[in-house]
Amino acid sequence: MPYNSTKRNEVLDEIQSEQFDILIIGGGITGAGIALDAVSRGFKVALIEKQDFAAGTSSRSTKLVHGGLRYLKNLEFKLVREVGLERAVAHKNAPHLVRPEKMLLPFVEGGSLGKFTTSMALWLYDVLAGVKGTDKRKMLSKSRTLRKEPLLREEGLLGSGYYAEYRTDDARLTIEVLKTAVSKGACIVNYIAAKGFTYQDSLVIGAECEDEVTKTQFQINARFVVNATGPWVDELREIDQSLNNKRLHLTKGVHLVVSHDDLPLKQSVYFDVGDGRMIFAIPRMNVAYIGTTDTSYTGDKKNPKVNREDVNYLLDAVNQMFPDVQLGFKNVISSWAGLRPLIDEEGKDQSELSRSDELFVSGSGLITMAGGKLTGYRLMAKKVMRLICDELHITRKCKTRRIKLCGGDFKRPRKELYPYIGKVCERLAQLNLNKDRAFYLVHLYGTQTELILNIFKKKSLESLVEAEAYWAIHYEGAITLEDFFSRRTGKLLFEPNEVIGEIEKVLLIFKNQLGWDESKEAMERNNMKNKVLSLTLFED
Ligand code: FAD
Repeated sequence: MPYNSTKRNEVLDEIQSEQFDILIIGGGITGAGIALDAVSRGFKVALIEKQDFAAGTSSRSTKLVHGGLRYLKNLEFKLVREVGLERAVAHKNAPHLVRPEKMLLPFVEGGSLGKFTTSMALWLYDVLAGVKGTDKRKMLSKSRTLRKEPLLREEGLLGSGYYAEYRTDDARLTIEVLKTAVSKGACIVNYIAAKGFTYQDSLVIGAECEDEVTKTQFQINARFVVNATGPWVDELREIDQSLNNKRLHLTKGVHLVVSHDDLPLKQSVYFDVGDGRMIFAIPRMNVAYIGTTDTSYTGDKKNPKVNREDVNYLLDAVNQMFPDVQLGFKNVISSWAGLRPLIDEEGKDQSELSRSDELFVSGSGLITMAGGKLTGYRLMAKKVMRLICDELHITRKCKTRRIKLCGGDFKRPRKELYPYIGKVCERLAQLNLNKDRAFYLVHLYGTQTELILNIFKKKSLESLVEAEAYWAIHYEGAITLEDFFSRRTGKLLFEPNEVIGEIEKVLLIFKNQLGWDESKEAMERNNMKNKVLSLTLFED
């Protein structure tokens, strides 16, 4: 079954009529990873997501595939080693989407990091994560640091560490993992909520579901049910009556986006803020983003809001570190807030809570995978599948280490990626399209770029964004404009000004492909315009 929104009803028929080995609830990176691992081991897999895929935390992170340098402060060596090693695997399987990114870690007079501690921490980080060759950390003098990033405050600067990380697009990573699972036979659908469970002899054997689009209700039957709902895991554990004293503690993390003209960073920087926290400032195409905060959260999980205090905190931090820019509220072009699903530990401050994952199995057999990080998604899936295989007394090996994600089929990424971007440039020029979009396209879609350009040509479309919209509907399960502008392309966050000019073109493609009537069209138009406005509306 293709990952095609125009065939959603067929997927729904299949999901209701089949008996699955494993039902996964939650279409963030955790659920996506489990679906790919399970289906590639030969299990019959279904996955449901109550919003759009990746609409929870998995589109709201710092978008780094990283070992978590700062977790060394909490002495979480095992976590740093596990996820640090995973970076190279993620890069190999999706080199267009998980790309090396050098990070600058400045140390200043009176800061919490000195030359010795920075050097030791980065050395340990490299050792734990198995970093080799030229990627190993370097310590830079003050003048070399300023050459790398001239915007840094010169006064008090002592030098920096320069080390290797990876950047990604979290939502696209999630979607490519899901698409890869679908290509291997998983049955996956968005906008379906699990509202309860079905039991036989007190054991969970499926879920009661509701289609969020049509409000119809149905059941899905499976031998195992996995709760991979991130910040929502306790809600399902409560329905299963298995919520015990180990619970989630949600913390909110905010990011701001400003234009590159206002914060012309040459280089990603990870810096110390006076209160002991660390902030990233990351250039990305024509913008830079800054994050993150870390505050306890108990509000609405679907739409965590950015408030003025969050904005002030981040702007102050940036203005302090890069004194020539002096950013204010007016410079912020977009923002997002995400919720970290951390596992509570008595007596610990939120920034000290572990970012490790934890597996719970209830008396009814409901398997919950809680906590964790985007970077460690493959390992979390492996733990769930090991548990299921043990339960079934079977051995089926994990294969995901070698599974290329959709769009990532470059044999020798370091050699092939840039020539491929060059070819895309030529093709764009032949099609009279802006060849500067080659980077954007390849980093989003990898080798699938050619298919999108074929759609552009075959359908005689007028703009690239229309071809992307067609692709998102027919191959990536998008059913709303927000699915497209936010999680399929990242345009909402990183090119919000362009979005306004593209709404009508994209609306027409969605209307024609999904058969929208006028009221649906008007609703989608308004929703999208409001979304753009909300990016810079901050609560008191
Ligand atoms: P989610 O992505 O939230 O997915 C759970 C899904 O379950 C949601 O989409 C939700 O709609 C769905 N759901 C809930 N209830 C139901 C139901 N009843 N029925 C059906 N579906 C349901 N990690 C990194 O590795 N690198 C980073 O740079 C990084 N930065 C971060 C920055 C911030 C600010 C935050 C908050 C986190 C960051 N993380 C990072 C952590 C990482 O983003 C998360 O660990 C990860 O995205 C969690 O994924 P998940 O699938 O468990 O949860």
